[in-house]
Amino acid sequence: MTTKNLQGEFITFTDGEYNIPDNPIVGAIAGDGIGPDIWSATKMVLDAAVEKAYAGKRKICWQSLVAGEAAFAETGAYLPETTLEAIKKQRIAIKGPLSTPTGGGIRSLNVALRHHFDLYACIRPVRYYEGVPNPMKRPGDLDVVIFRENTEDVYAGLEWPAGSDEAEALGDYLREKLQAKVRPGSALGIKPMSPEGSKRLIRAAIEYAINNGRRMVTMVHKGNIMKFTEGAFCQWGYDMAKAEFPDQVITEDELVTKYQGEWPPGKIILNDRIADAMFQQLLLRPSEYDVLATPNLNGDYLSDACAAQVGGLGIAPGANVGDGIAIFEATHGTAPKYAGLDKVNPGSLILSGKMMLDFMGWNEAGELVEKALQKTILGRQVTYDLARQMEGGEEVSCSTFGKLIVEAMV
Ligand code: NAD
Repeated sequence: MTTKNLQGEFITFTDGEYNIPDNPIVGAIAGDGIGPDIWSATKMVLDAAVEKAYAGKRKICWQSLVAGEAAFAETGAYLPETTLEAIKKQRIAIKGPLSTPTGGGIRSLNVALRHHFDLYACIRPVRYYEGVPNPMKRPGDLDVVIFRENTEDVYAGLEWPAGSDEAEALGDYLREKLQAKVRPGSALGIKPMSPEGSKRLIRAAIEYAINNGRRMVTMVHKGNIMKFTEGAFCQWGYDMAKAEFPDQVITEDELVTKYQGEWPPGKIILNDRIADAMFQQLLLRPSEYDVLATPNLNGDYLSDACAAQVGGLGIAPGANVGDGIAIFEATHGTAPKYAGLDKVNPGSLILSGKMMLDFMGWNEAGELVEKALQKTILGRQVTYDLARQMEGGEEVSCSTFGKLIVEAMV
């Protein structure tokens, strides 16, 4: 796994900006289960798009990295130090799904990666691709990008089993020192949310909105009940935006009081919604929402609900991004029963690759990938998961689906 013989150059990160050479070294973890099948189709599609968009002037130099079961077989570790070192150096990587090792130790390899690199923003764009079977009347009305906080809230992993010494000690402290009503024998969890953690997530969402011509950032919280955690998340967001983006961001209140409700082009509207109401809003008035910034658990639920709304659970892309390191990943798991069958849908990893190309500023290639995927779906030659729900759908293998996408690039 040395990088000595690679032809590419390393991506660098200075003053908050990625510098992408024309032949960047990018890490690729195929992953477990169906990972190798979907990665092989994805690599074919991404390479073809880059070649087509830049006629050989640009080329990704993939460095394959091991993690998960393959790594354990090779090195005795699920997340070998060499892989972590390589990603640190490469700064941008893409990965297939990884199975969670059974029997203690690591909670999840994905969570371990997020924590190791402090990848604090989980980004999930959700939009409709015409022809994808879905449960809505107007699925195309939903086009949102969800920024979900990745390191705090319930993902901090601070919980202790009922009856454990830790839960009892914490329960005693809560009862004695804080007069909290906690039943003896309870399981306990802690939900930490910090100003720094909240602000950097909301900042990333606002910067994304500014850089991508989006109109609005909505903070989704349950601050009416959890005032000092979720309520504060929202308030810290308003405070940060006022201090750091005074010329670019207006609040929803200002939209009414200063701009008579007419959106001033070029400004980002910052507003907030209570999480439960937001689930209704996204079903009833989806076109009113744009970029969402959420604490961890709200974002977890919302991401899957939104993806289901456009029929896209199987093809939903995602990325986990920190300051200077970004890992793009399929959002589904390893589907072990389909491993090695060349059967499943590579769409989630392919669209994560499109996100990666856009993130690198290679938008021409990203657009080619997205348009070709859309065209292929409309052609109804698709993998089993889509074919079985589509009228006139013809099932093709994972690799054939990838080849059809390449052929659809014009
Ligand atoms: P899963 O997503 O692997 O599979 C559930 C079902 O979804 C599959 O049986 C299959 O019917 C369908 N499916 C999943 N991906 C598909 C695709 N690309 N195309 C077509 N159909 C697809 O979820 P699971 O069974 O709960 O988890 C299996 C393993 O994956 C576990 O070890 C879990 O920890 C891991 N996992 C990893 C990630 C990740 O790496 N990001 C995410 C979720 C689960």
